[in-house]
Amino acid sequence: MPQEVSVPSAIERFVTGGLASMLIDGAFVPAVSSETFDTLNPATGQLLARLPAGDAPDVDRAVAAARRAFDDGPWSTMKPFDRQRIMLRFADLVESRHEDLAILDTLDMGAPIQRMRGNLRRAVGMARFYAGLTTALRGETITNSIPGDFHTQTLREPVGVVGAIIPWNNPHIAFIWKVGAALAAGCTVVLKPAEEASLSALWLGEMLLEAGLPDGVVNVVTGYGETAGAALSVHPGVDKIAFTGSTATGQAIVRAAAGTLKRVTLELGGKSPNIVFNDADLDLAVPGAAMAAFTNSGQVCSAGTRLFVERGIYNDFVQAMSSYTDALTVGNGLDDTTQLGPLVSQTQLERVTDYFDVGRAEGAAVYTGGARLTEGDYAKGYFVAPTIFTDVDNDMRVAKEEIFGPVVSVMAFDDYESVIKLANTSPFGLGGGVWTNDLTKATRTVGALRTGTVWVNCYGQMDPAVPFGGYRMSGYGREGGVEHVNEFLETKSVWTQTH
Ligand code: ADP
Repeated sequence: MPQEVSVPSAIERFVTGGLASMLIDGAFVPAVSSETFDTLNPATGQLLARLPAGDAPDVDRAVAAARRAFDDGPWSTMKPFDRQRIMLRFADLVESRHEDLAILDTLDMGAPIQRMRGNLRRAVGMARFYAGLTTALRGETITNSIPGDFHTQTLREPVGVVGAIIPWNNPHIAFIWKVGAALAAGCTVVLKPAEEASLSALWLGEMLLEAGLPDGVVNVVTGYGETAGAALSVHPGVDKIAFTGSTATGQAIVRAAAGTLKRVTLELGGKSPNIVFNDADLDLAVPGAAMAAFTNSGQVCSAGTRLFVERGIYNDFVQAMSSYTDALTVGNGLDDTTQLGPLVSQTQLERVTDYFDVGRAEGAAVYTGGARLTEGDYAKGYFVAPTIFTDVDNDMRVAKEEIFGPVVSVMAFDDYESVIKLANTSPFGLGGGVWTNDLTKATRTVGALRTGTVWVNCYGQMDPAVPFGGYRMSGYGREGGVEHVNEFLETKSVWTQTH
């Protein structure tokens, strides 16, 4: 029997239908307008909390607080060692409360508790990784060749106030990822969580204060993207937007940011190719390819949703993957046996089920899945069956557009050159996978794929120290690794005449 995880007392206040507040300048406050919006449990449709519907006036207040904390201190005047100590304390708090954080995110956006628990090492690891970099920032001394005696060096300085806009698909990870890197660089932050899943951001904001973060250094403004998010993107007091979300919203943010030419980094969508050659280890590749597409119910930007299988193994592979897929346990994320939870919202449900119709209309065949799940308790939430489309052509919409649901489009291929061409025929370039036991072929494929990450005989691994980001329309900039902190730094060149 599945064990349903019960709601711990530490998070009850966020999930019992009450009114939550947002974090501005060290205080938890309602929206200036007093407007609210509801956040629901996608597995049951139940109300979790009412949240302040922040808008331009709230963003103004939060940006003013972040500006003060940056321009006047204390954050910008604090020694790196002291900033690091606060971030390490925050990491300890995240570690000690991670189980409760995991449950909070499961309630808020539906992902299986097993998956959320599995974020522990990464969540805490990121917080400590960025804390470590706080004391490791450095510029360079550079030789120059101009006549006379001049010393040249570079200083790295924080870019200033960061507007962080994050999605709902892995909420506490997204928060720590963006905020950790910005703080390591010495920036201050106004973060807008996704309206579908804001609760862990509020709790993490509280933990930062508890860890000793001064007021105004990190502010969390809840609200809709079109209002609060848009206000942040155009705000003249914001020096940089760090965004993760859909490509269409990324484009809107770039347009909005153009007025002030604020810096923008974007981690956007994908339609990532996953290539299985005839000689692959099928014991690895079958579950690997299925979960590359289905994990988190496909609500992963780097999901391997275009699966290319070499002709010689195609039929057997699809059959084996279908058996694996049909055995996946779809259910309420709080059940600890659940492997796939619901989609996050009614909107996502409609979007994904529309694509079932689109695929069929285009001539793709539903090998398995292809429908909403409606029996029993499923009817209360936004559940769909993990779905395999075959007879897909790379030109079809189901092979071109990001669906953000548990849907994979499988295509057969005959030779290396043609599959590389197909794999790269996409406006996106986020992730990519290759499954083969031929080292030469794997190495060639890694070089040929135009994507920011390539996984070889595995898929989807992430680590705080390893950069992640997109080529082409999957965005620009890198998150994770030292590269990430560099995205929050300006370079100042200094010329000093020495005679
Ligand atoms: P999805 O469609 O998967 O929800 P979005 O890109 O719309 O992805 O959402 C990611 C984040 O972007 C969320 O926090 C959302 O509120 C925010 N957002 C949506 N529209 C805008 C916008 N026009 N300007 C700024 N932020 C936005």
